[in-house]
Formats: sequence, structure tokens, C-alpha cells
Amino acid sequence: MTSQPTPSDRFTTATATIAELDRRPVRHLIGGALADSDAHFEVINPTTGQPCARAPEATREQLDEAVARAREAQPAWAALRWEDRREALLQLAAVLREHQDELAALITLEQGKPLAAARGEVGRSAMLIEQFVTLRVEPEVLRSNATERIEVHYRPLGVVGAITPWNMPLVLSVPKIAHALLAGNTLVVKPSPYAPLATLRLAELARKLFPPGVLNVLAGGNAFGQWMSEHPGIAKISFTGSIPTGRRVMGSAAGTLKRLTLELGGNDPAIVLPDADIDAIAQRLYDAVFVNCGQVCMAIKRLYVPDALYEKACEALAGIAREARVGDPFDPATQLGPVQNRAQFDIVQAVLEDTRARAGARILTGGKALSGPGYFIEPTVVADIAEGARMVDEEPFGPVLPIIRYTDVDDAVARANAGPHGLGASVWGTDVARACEVASRLHAGTVWVNRHVGADPLAPFGGAKQSGVGRQYGLTGLKGYMEAITMVLPPAA
Ligand code: NAD
Repeated sequence: MTSQPTPSDRFTTATATIAELDRRPVRHLIGGALADSDAHFEVINPTTGQPCARAPEATREQLDEAVARAREAQPAWAALRWEDRREALLQLAAVLREHQDELAALITLEQGKPLAAARGEVGRSAMLIEQFVTLRVEPEVLRSNATERIEVHYRPLGVVGAITPWNMPLVLSVPKIAHALLAGNTLVVKPSPYAPLATLRLAELARKLFPPGVLNVLAGGNAFGQWMSEHPGIAKISFTGSIPTGRRVMGSAAGTLKRLTLELGGNDPAIVLPDADIDAIAQRLYDAVFVNCGQVCMAIKRLYVPDALYEKACEALAGIAREARVGDPFDPATQLGPVQNRAQFDIVQAVLEDTRARAGARILTGGKALSGPGYFIEPTVVADIAEGARMVDEEPFGPVLPIIRYTDVDDAVARANAGPHGLGASVWGTDVARACEVASRLHAGTVWVNRHVGADPLAPFGGAKQSGVGRQYGLTGLKGYMEAITMVLPPAA
């Protein structure tokens, strides 16, 4: 029986992984081979603000090559049995599990989440594949009578382009890989230039699992994402990122009328009902706000609390935030790491500046950056703030929580539904039937009662309103990577 790695084993793995980055160059995977580029960019460690690796910057010619190789490989990949594609994907899940500590170290290094959370991200990525492959898309018979038989068949689209952000490098790229490949497509993946290392390393580890050209992963900047979105050889873009970039992707894809799945930003409201038990839910609310330092699309970003519970909720949440251990994400005691990059750090600071300028707003705890290196911001809880402030109207994507007072539940629902976002929303109360009734009035892709954050692999996940187009996860998500073909046939013999 092998023993479980201890925290000190994990620290050793992390140190070795980081040291290895100096010796083993970071490479793209194109057509089954590892490849470099002439130009490179630095990957910054958000804990120190210093470079931690050098990644190759792919050219337009390398994109053309990757697309050409993916197109060549696609018919044979689609012709495999569903079970064979499933088997290859289960091996990808096994690679994630086998290299969990190494991949987690890369995520912590480049993204800044605590090592335990990074291990969780790698484990969840493997679990998502294992769940997705239980799905199977079969032809559907819609009508069968003496004169005709109408069936819907689902076919792969061809080459899919996947573009991902920096907050969850593997948990956001792996579902796109699993959906696209299970459906019989081949793939070109572009991770965020802020955090490309774990995705590129996964591609390197997995390169023998798939025929050459089936999975291609290239590091590139924003222009590279635009080239993908415009590319005539790519049939679909599956994009996760911000709303403004989602609009650009949609514009770039218009010329070739690509299929699109857009998983975009959120500004999730949570409504605490007057019968809620604050002592029982405060920690769970806190966790759903400050998870990954607030850098989760479906984190709580606005908390609506009724007059009678307001001061108690403010004190409970601020109390937890005051105790939070902020620091080096490789230290097992750390609960909150840095904000991932300088640009995001500046955005969060501007939001805090706006908050300080609001008459009446009370910063209960936090409110500023930590001195010293890295992009650290104190966990911040703000009371007596309302719509009109940037912290309430925008998605700050950092460790900040506005607590908004309300008197009337209908008014809270209207305010929660206002604005362009619609990713997630939640309602919290002890009378579950009442909480479910209020939840039924919220406009979001996912609505929770007495919890927030989390997506079941078999349930469709995505945004209402401007938080997205289309869905991932579940059969709905998988079919988004396929074309529905209506077959009008003679009656069945
Ligand atoms: P971003 O939109 O800046 O970048 C995302 C990706 O798009 C990166 O790979 C980037 O290089 C690429 N890109 C940039 N410009 C492009 C262009 N013109 N054409 C094509 N690609 C381009 O987002 P980010 O700052 O990396 O991530 C944070 C955002 O992502 C937040 O808004 C967050 O809510 C959102 N997000 C959404 C989900 C979801 O599932 N809905 C999940 C995670 C993050």
C-alpha cells in the first residue's frame, strides 16, 4: 500500500517542480510534437511580482499549422467508437490524478491560490472528465409512423478553439477538452498568458494519449485569441473570460458565423431572508465570497441583508475576514493568496478608491493593499453601500464584499435582478419553501438555496443575460459541441 504524501512531501514536490522550470523549457503542443516560438513572454508569480517562467508566444503561422493538423486528425478521431474516445479521456483523468501535486504546484505558482486549493482544482478537473464520460449522445426519434420517420442525429463540428482565463487554469480548460473530444471534434486550446503553465504541462504529459493533432495547446496573447476567433478552419469557439472580451470574440467570430459558447463574468447576488440564522450561515457566506481570493466567476459579489439582521451579518462576516491568514500560498497556514495579476490588482484598488469616496460607506475591515512584494489585498467587507458604487455595480473579481441593506424582499429581488449580469444567484433562509419561492424569481443561469458556488458536472452551467451564451456541462453542454442534423426518412421497415 502506498502512503499518502504529507504536507512536507508536497512542499518538496512543489520546490522540485519550480526548480524544474529553470531546466525544462515551456513548450506548445502542435500536431503531437512539442514546439517553441522565436518570441517569448514572462509568466509572473503573483506572490512576488517577479517572473517565474518564460513561455513561448505562438505566431499566426503556428496557429495555422495547429488548425491544419487538427483538421487532418478530426475524421479519424470522429470515426472511433464513443467508447474509445471515452477511454482516452479517462486516461487524461488518470494523468491529472497521477500528477496532481506537480500540476497543483504550477497552479499555485502562476495563479496564487493556496496549494491545497490548487490540488482541489486538479482533482476536480479529473472528476469532471470521469463524470462527463458517463454521458452519451444518441440519435433521437421524434416521429415514427406509417408515412415517415424523423430522427435527430448529432455530429461533431470539426475543430474547436478553446480560450480560457487565468483564475482556474485547469478547471476551465479541462471541461472544454473533454466535451470537444468526447463529441468527436479535435481541439486548439489557448490558456491565458497570465497563467499558461499548468495547461501546457498537462498537454505535454498527455501528448501520447491522443493521435497527433487531436489536442493542440498553444500559449499566446490576446491577439492570438482574436486570430482563433476569426480563423476559417475553426468551427466553434468555446470561450471563458470577461464580458468585454466575450463581445470581442463574438464580433471576430461573426465573419465565419462560428458556433459559440461564451462563459462570461458574473456579479452574483445573494439574498439573506429575514428568517435566516446568521450564526449558522456566516462561514458559508464568507467562503462563497472569498474563495480563490474572490476570483471566481460564480462567487457571491453582492450580499443583500434585511434591516433586522444587518448589523449582526456585517459583524459576523467582518469578524471572519479579520481572522483570515493572507500570505504565501505555498504556506499550508495561508487561506488567501494574492490577486492574480497587476492589472486585476489595479482594478480592485480602483474599486476600493471609489468605495472610500462614497459618503456613508463603512469599510468594516480591510480596504487596502498589503505593503511589500506581490499583489496582496486585505479581505475587505463594506457596509452601508448600495447601487451606484463600483463595488456593487461591477464585478470587482477580488477579495471584497459589499453588504447591502434592504427592507422589503420584493425590492431585494428587483435589485438582485437589475443590471446586465446573470451568472448565479442565491437565497438563504430557514423556511426552505419560502426561500425556494424567492429563488424562483431570480434571473440567473444557476440559482442556489442555502448555498452558493459549485456546478454539478451533469447539470448545464452558464450565464443568463450578458453573463454568457450557451451552456457547458451535462448533456446540454456536450450537445453544444455537436451539430443537430434532422433526418427525414422513409417509415421504419
Ligand atoms: P479576459 O476576458 O481578459 O481573458 C480571457 C481570455 O481571452 C484570455 O486567454 C485572453 O488572452 C483572451 N483574449 C483577450 N482578448 C481577446 C480577444 N480580443 N479575442 C479572443 N481572445 C481574447 O478574462 P480574464 O481576466 O482572464 O478572466 C476573468 C474573467 O473571466 C472574469 O470576468 C470572470 O468572471 C470570467 N470568468 C467566467 C467564468 C464562467 O464560467 N462564466 C469562469 C471563470 C472566469
